[in-house]
Amino acid sequence: MAIESRGGVAEREKSTLSIQFVSGLVGAPITASYNAFLASVKENRELQAEGSDRSTRHIEISLPQEVSYQEGDHLGVIPQNEPALVERVLRRYGLNSSDYIVISASGRSVAHLPVDRPISVHDLLSQCVELQEAATRAQLRELAAFTVCPPNKKELEALLQEDAYKEHVLNKRLTMLDLLERYLACELPFERFVELLPPLKPRYYSISSSPRIQNDAVSISVGVVRCPAKSGSGEYRGVASNYLASLQPGNTVMVFVNTPESGFTLPEQPETPIIMVGPGTGFAPFRGFLQARQTMKSEGKTLGEAHLYYGCRNELDHIYREEVEQFERQDIVTVHTAYSRKEGMPKTYVQHLMKENTNEIIRLLGNNGKLYICGDGSRMAPDVEACLKEAYQEIHAVSKQEAQKWLEQLQSEGRYAKDVWAGN
Ligand SMILES: Cc1cc2nc3c(=O)[nH]c(=O)nc-3n(C[C@H](O)[C@H](O)[C@H](O)COP(=O)(O)OP(=O)(O)OC[C@H]3O[C@@H](n4cnc5c(N)ncnc54)[C@H](O)[C@@H]3O)c2cc1C
Repeated sequence: MAIESRGGVAEREKSTLSIQFVSGLVGAPITASYNAFLASVKENRELQAEGSDRSTRHIEISLPQEVSYQEGDHLGVIPQNEPALVERVLRRYGLNSSDYIVISASGRSVAHLPVDRPISVHDLLSQCVELQEAATRAQLRELAAFTVCPPNKKELEALLQEDAYKEHVLNKRLTMLDLLERYLACELPFERFVELLPPLKPRYYSISSSPRIQNDAVSISVGVVRCPAKSGSGEYRGVASNYLASLQPGNTVMVFVNTPESGFTLPEQPETPIIMVGPGTGFAPFRGFLQARQTMKSEGKTLGEAHLYYGCRNELDHIYREEVEQFERQDIVTVHTAYSRKEGMPKTYVQHLMKENTNEIIRLLGNNGKLYICGDGSRMAPDVEACLKEAYQEIHAVSKQEAQKWLEQLQSEGRYAKDVWAGN
């Protein structure tokens, strides 16, 4: 560290210390569990048009040199709880965000908590635990056990009853924190509160870029979860989507690349016809596919037919519209857009447009084509599957069971890949 002058010539001595600047998250156990790395945000822009009441962010993230990806991969994001949420816990427990604590554990499973080393209360609450999950019955039982005021205790115990729990806690997604704020006579110690909270989970986002266009960065397309809270009080803000939306270029984020096992990759042969079904942010991986097809085309490769079934409410949330229109003009894809809330037009979803083209779709799939569905797995994907099975049944005059077998076979042969997630 020191610089000493000898015989008038200053020599540089090698430091015996080594210092690495890290983000607070680097030390969080979750980052080690997922081999996550620190990456820098390049760009974060709104995809919704002005006047839209929703937010979808296009976020570009630089990758370290040693990390690679392919179209259809996911980016795992280690999120952080919002400062306002962390502040609520600090207020309830009378703690300072800059207070440092050392957690010692005696045997219980706390792999997600940093033990035996100092951590600020703020980092612990923002980086290690889920604060917004509905309270479980086990947690409720503990809250009741630590409540000293008899009427309050009774109320908490009443919530344990199955119907009451479902109606007042689960459906309203009341959290332990909500209940602690409501029942001030509850003396659940802070360490027990932390122990009872579930570990913070990474969230996955379909990568919406192709490494053939840029291999040192990925983009993701994030629908920001913000809506009136089911508890009836205030706004519900999803952890990861709001965290990502808040990042500025130059900020860092802990991420990792994950290749899904569903075979959600472009066919090996560019001539293979493809049908992509991806409304809303379900379009994300297909943006990567279309970029890849554009590159292949410019390399002189022959491309098979490609159809994109995209859906949105109206023009305001028609994300990536110009890019997609450009791909269409370049004969990279044929686009079918379903608007579900466009003035003067009937409510149309992707499966309605597919229904109009069933002969074409079944023909392409019979011609070794590959089918992809991405997005909402609770309603859209089952509706699309039902539409396809009905079409197959009708066109080939076969039974319902045979149509089901056909779809399963497509999947087992790697000609149908699904990348879906639960909606709200
Ligand atoms: C393989 C995969 C790929 C994905 N790809 C994408 C993608 O490309 N783009 C994208 O945007 N998302 C994608 N997702 C979804 C994404 O991972 C997250 O689930 C999403 O962003 C919400 O995360 P969050 O942390 O913001 O919300 P969370 O904090 O996880 O909150 C969501 C939870 O809040 C609950 N909730 C919803 N509304 C309310 C309310 N009003 N009051 C109380 N609770 C409520 C819901 O029941 C839900 O369980 C993907 C998911 C998977 C599994």
